[in-house]
Amino acid sequence: MRVVKTFYIETFGCQMNVHDSEKVIGTLIAQGYSQVATPEEAELVFYNTCSIRDKAEQKVFSRLQQFKKEHGRGKTFAVLGCVAQQEGEKIFAKAPHVSLVCGSASYNQLPEMLVQLETGNRRVTGLSLDTEDTFDTPLTRRDNPHRAYITIIEGCDKSCAYCVVPFTRGPERSRTSASVISEARKLASAGYSEIQLLGQNVNSYRDPSPAGWDFTTLLANVGRTPGIRRVRFTTSHPRDFVQGIIDAIDENLALCNHVHLPVQSGSTRVLEAMQRLYTRDDYMRRIDWMKKARRDIAITTDVIVGFPGETEADFEATLALLDAVEYDSIFSFKYSRRPNTPALALGDQVPEEEKGRRLTILQERQRAIQVRRNATYLGRVEECLVEGFNKATGQWIGRTSQNKTLNFIRPTADPVDNLLGTYVEVRVTRTGPNSLAGESVH
Ligand code: SAM
Ligand code: SF4
Repeated sequence: MRVVKTFYIETFGCQMNVHDSEKVIGTLIAQGYSQVATPEEAELVFYNTCSIRDKAEQKVFSRLQQFKKEHGRGKTFAVLGCVAQQEGEKIFAKAPHVSLVCGSASYNQLPEMLVQLETGNRRVTGLSLDTEDTFDTPLTRRDNPHRAYITIIEGCDKSCAYCVVPFTRGPERSRTSASVISEARKLASAGYSEIQLLGQNVNSYRDPSPAGWDFTTLLANVGRTPGIRRVRFTTSHPRDFVQGIIDAIDENLALCNHVHLPVQSGSTRVLEAMQRLYTRDDYMRRIDWMKKARRDIAITTDVIVGFPGETEADFEATLALLDAVEYDSIFSFKYSRRPNTPALALGDQVPEEEKGRRLTILQERQRAIQVRRNATYLGRVEECLVEGFNKATGQWIGRTSQNKTLNFIRPTADPVDNLLGTYVEVRVTRTGPNSLAGESVH
């Protein structure tokens, strides 16, 4: 019997996937495996996959194709995550050199699956979505030394017409508030100062323990963890987003003044077809709460263009919404047809070329908004968490509470002074559409 001992993992997709990979790595290390930096060096090669859009899914199959020839040399390939869950055993037919296919709802069974692989089983699967468990690992191998993710809720109970997530990540499962708070405390004592709470829809968090906390209570309590200076959360669903979240942000400076609130479309007609469960007016009411907050809350969003049946007037309504909200930044996508989703049955598809045209117009409009928005920061002093140093420009890379990148120089400091992971006050001296630049204040 040959025992596989080295592994390589590549992660595609969202922060949930990035954090899942951190937990998978922790699980593998606890089982005696060691991580290597390239697939060439590894005996076991993992791809943690994303299927949110067709392009993301294709990337995984092209990666598998690339390494097909390696199989003969004794490598074992494993496909994890959303493509694994969506395609299931079909992956073995498409890529016969794959030996393990496992969706995120089955990660708790990874240790047993690894044993099966080690004993020579070449078709191991973990594809059940029928679980009430969350993936809690004793060891999580975290990539960033200052910012740590904590999953508070897995899966999604919404059924947005375009989205594969309910099919790939299963039903909603919240972790107990006690386990979240205990993880936050451990992270603080390990030196992390920023925590990001994760979930497909964090607002529908429901503590399964008798304490019964809702998301607002959990957020406020994580924000009171000694040693934690910044708390972020993503993603919020507008339907479940409540005023209490804004009040909590107003009351505690440790809660970052940034909210990511995906709108998807500015047209109530399209929102209805998307089964988003809110109207444009409902959404704008939430924006109004944020604009009336005491703190200056940065607002970001996700937009889909070219959903089936989206007319020019619907698209114009989305552009008008960008102007009305003045987002700090947006993620924008062309609608992509996904397997199993209700939108597949809708007629009136928007041609690819037209989707491309709308996306370009949308991004240009948003760029102009960001130029204007960021220009208002000129002269302001912002606190930054220092995340890196750019040798080419001699600038430190900082991030503000509002999640803006603020590159800065430190005129009087010793150049070898290590600022990484510290908090520095920076005066903004230049602004652009995607970042700010400045000088540290002494
Ligand atoms: N749960 C979050 C939410 O409700 O917004 C995030 C879901 S998804 C990981 C992130 C974004 O991908 C969505 O907000 C949406 O804009 C985009 N997206 C999801 N499905 C898509 C599709 N079929 N085509 C294009 N964009 C899509
Ligand atoms: Fe997908 Fe909608 Fe759930 Fe977000 S809320 S993960 S877009 S189904």
